[in-house]
Amino acid sequence: MNIISAIIVFENLHEVRRLCHWGPIIALTVIAVCSSMAILDSIIWYWPLDTTSGSINFIMLINWTVLILYNYFNAMFVGPGYIPLEWKPENQRDTMYLQFCRVCEGYKAPRSHHCRKCNRCVMKMDHHCPWINNCCGHLNHAYFTTFLLLAPLGCIHAAFIFIMTMYSQLNDRISFGWSSVKIDMSAPRRVHHPIIPFSISAFAANLFALGLALGTTIAVGMLFFIQVGVEELECPAQSPDLNPTEHLWDELEHRLHPRPPRHPNISA
Ligand SMILES: [Zn+2]
Ligand SMILES: [Zn+2]
Repeated sequence: MNIISAIIVFENLHEVRRLCHWGPIIALTVIAVCSSMAILDSIIWYWPLDTTSGSINFIMLINWTVLILYNYFNAMFVGPGYIPLEWKPENQRDTMYLQFCRVCEGYKAPRSHHCRKCNRCVMKMDHHCPWINNCCGHLNHAYFTTFLLLAPLGCIHAAFIFIMTMYSQLNDRISFGWSSVKIDMSAPRRVHHPIIPFSISAFAANLFALGLALGTTIAVGMLFFIQVGVEELECPAQSPDLNPTEHLWDELEHRLHPRPPRHPNISA
């Protein structure tokens, strides 16, 4: 348990309930199908582990899966960070710049909004993402953006494996006519004899996984570019001179993560 909580920072253990939603179920199914299919394809048919390049390919596939899941679960479980209920700035004068949330009965820090789905005021709220079943905001922004970058890269690698597996297994079995394409699944492969023959169901599973991988590459890749574009537009460098409420973030950070008092240096 200690190892898991060291890898994934759970704000609360009951956050696990966020998994029970169509977004995470679909996202995790796509990750599971693409990564396990790419690993099986590599080991059994396309790039066996008995070569150096095959081992490197295998390690890279495992790496993509671990990194994608690490960022995905952190984006989901760390969460965006919520403004404490009934929060108000220490200096009463700062409230004149802030909006009041009647649901949370507190003030909204700059660039924070109330999310109806989370039913809390979210720190530097970007949007509520159904795929992580949580808001994207102050604390999980980096995890979320890294996930959006890594998922298409991992999918491109997986798609390459799917295409090359189907090509290498079918290139001596497939024949093209004027109006038909024939695949002779009974013919054995001449060069490489895998333990499990490449069957029609393996071919169908590869086609399905390829569709998922290409769809994810396009959809998540577009989300990544939109996300980066929005960040550049919305987050110009904030200076305390231009925004009189920007210092409230230090106040909030201090309240949420109070630092232990520094011990005076003991010099000999
Ligand atoms: Zn609120
Ligand atoms: Zn939300």
